[in-house]
Amino acid sequence: MAPKGVSRLIRVTDGVIGPVEPKKKTVKAKTRADYPGVSAAHLDIAEVYASPKLAGPPLCDELIALMQHTFTEEEASIARHIGPRARETAQSVAAAAHRPVEEVRPVLERLANEKCVLLAFGSGENRFYANLPLAAGTFEMVLMRTSMETLTDWHRRFCELFAALYETGFGVDYWGKRPPSVKYLPMGQVIQSHPAAYPSDKLEEIFDRYDSFGVTLCQCRIVEEMVGRGCGKPKEVCMALGISADRLIQAGKFRRIEKKEALEIKAEAEVQGLVTWITSLDPKLGGSSCSCCGDCCHMMRIISEFNVPGIIAPPHFMPCFDPTECTHCGKCALACPMGAITVDTRNKSLQHDPRRCIGCAQCAVACTPFKAVVMEAVPGVEDFKQDRSRGLTA
Ligand code: SF4
Ligand code: SF4
Ligand code: SF4
Repeated sequence: MAPKGVSRLIRVTDGVIGPVEPKKKTVKAKTRADYPGVSAAHLDIAEVYASPKLAGPPLCDELIALMQHTFTEEEASIARHIGPRARETAQSVAAAAHRPVEEVRPVLERLANEKCVLLAFGSGENRFYANLPLAAGTFEMVLMRTSMETLTDWHRRFCELFAALYETGFGVDYWGKRPPSVKYLPMGQVIQSHPAAYPSDKLEEIFDRYDSFGVTLCQCRIVEEMVGRGCGKPKEVCMALGISADRLIQAGKFRRIEKKEALEIKAEAEVQGLVTWITSLDPKLGGSSCSCCGDCCHMMRIISEFNVPGIIAPPHFMPCFDPTECTHCGKCALACPMGAITVDTRNKSLQHDPRRCIGCAQCAVACTPFKAVVMEAVPGVEDFKQDRSRGLTA
């Protein structure tokens, strides 16, 4: 068992502090014939979300259960006509379903605006409907909100069924193959005046590139709270920047904040042990920044729970451990959100797994008062400087 306040993915056994055993993929692929009692509409919509184009799981018990909960049979009979990654109008869906468009349009609007499982964009004849992968995509759309008060029993059940599907590990076949899309920022206090550093205390410099800021609740932490594994850390930390913020605030999904409040939220998140990432995008396209913990964040858990490469970009800084200063107290291993450090406090040894490390520097901050951890720039950091000159954020 890990001590109170430490990630549930860290264990302490016989004086050894380190990650829990990685999980194995348990998803069991089935066929339509295995579900004689399930409606054709639900089997069809399950096959849409099972598509590799949506990085979906195979047809399996957990997917069927999630689909039966998410869509009524009537909704499934309509939404199944939107193929994976396709975009359709109400007219084209109505034609495929052999139903009047007056019946089909309200169902599509309800799925887009109330249940938030479909994307809708455009207007009139050019209003389109599309689906997104279950993760990342649909689960975030369904849960994205500014208040826990608006969550219903339907959302609670959605969280339980989504968590059950995620934990089958179906995604290990996809996650290692995606290009990295986010980068965690090392904690500022331990990266002092390195010319290539963009640590978290320079977030203001990154935020200066945007003129709109929105904040919403962390969807990963909502799921974990709903399934009884809440980490207790702040949830109002997920931010959208620039035009992304404007769109999501207009959609009622984010709350508008000023840059000052955005920086205060991020500073408090860091105090609470959360680590902040930022997308590497041209600021003109908008951006996003979340503050995550190892217990809840699905991006981190892909690596720490399933031991496969994720979509987190390689860090620009890595911890370097000084054996002459290290007392093998284990505080760094308890603080690491990725389970990247194992300390044997009795036999006095320390191992660091660079494949899991996101360069967040929590270990260096935790190593007080010993100062046995120094964050060092990794080779290739010069490329990072070039990226910055091209306008990338991290
Ligand atoms: S990425 Fe991090 S902050 Fe964002 S929703 Fe997931 S855990 Fe929450
Ligand atoms: S916190 Fe510092 S002193 Fe303690 S085990 Fe880690 S590196 Fe060694
Ligand atoms: S070892 Fe862990 S705490 Fe240290 S930088 Fe890497 S991920 Fe962060």
